[in-house]
Amino acid sequence: MNKVIAIDGPAGSGKGTLAKAIAKKFNLVNIDTGATYRCVALKVLKEKISLEDTNKIIDISKTINIDLKEDGTVYLDGEDVTKEIRNKDVTKIVSPISSIVEVRENLVNIQRKIAEGKDVVMEGRDITTVVFPNAKYKFYLDASLEERAKRRYKENQEKGIDMSYEEVYENIKA
Ligand code: C5P
Repeated sequence: MNKVIAIDGPAGSGKGTLAKAIAKKFNLVNIDTGATYRCVALKVLKEKISLEDTNKIIDISKTINIDLKEDGTVYLDGEDVTKEIRNKDVTKIVSPISSIVEVRENLVNIQRKIAEGKDVVMEGRDITTVVFPNAKYKFYLDASLEERAKRRYKENQEKGIDMSYEEVYENIKA
């Protein structure tokens, strides 16, 4: 098996920051699994699919073409969506989409394929339990809800994403 460092934890707990630092220090490929869920959410919005239409959402997760570049750029069906997948509309619907069991199965397959043959650091919330349960190195990060909301709000501001602190707080809580 290739080298896999798995990091789990809730939103805003610092998984992304830690994964980036580990990837740099140990020269590993950093795989942001949240980006794969965000890509499905973005496509659902682009194709104007209702959140009620579970079958269509599952279809999207089955056929979607996601490419996560080593520099962090995210491509959806050949288009650079790195910034777009962090916007408010995507953020609002990504959680219900990620709770569809079949979507999770399809995306876990995609995530494993992206990691195939590479030494990786992977972050998400099911990496140590579902995606790579046999990873040699597993970490779980956590922080209080308030601290996580504060971090995510600051991160959004730096990225030019327009969400109020209250919106971020409610989103993270949900
Ligand atoms: O980490 P990020 O905030 O980009 O993840 C976006 C969303 O994708 C999370 O809020 C969660 O609903 C979902 N997700 C997941 N499992 C993962 C990674 C992300 O359900 N491994």
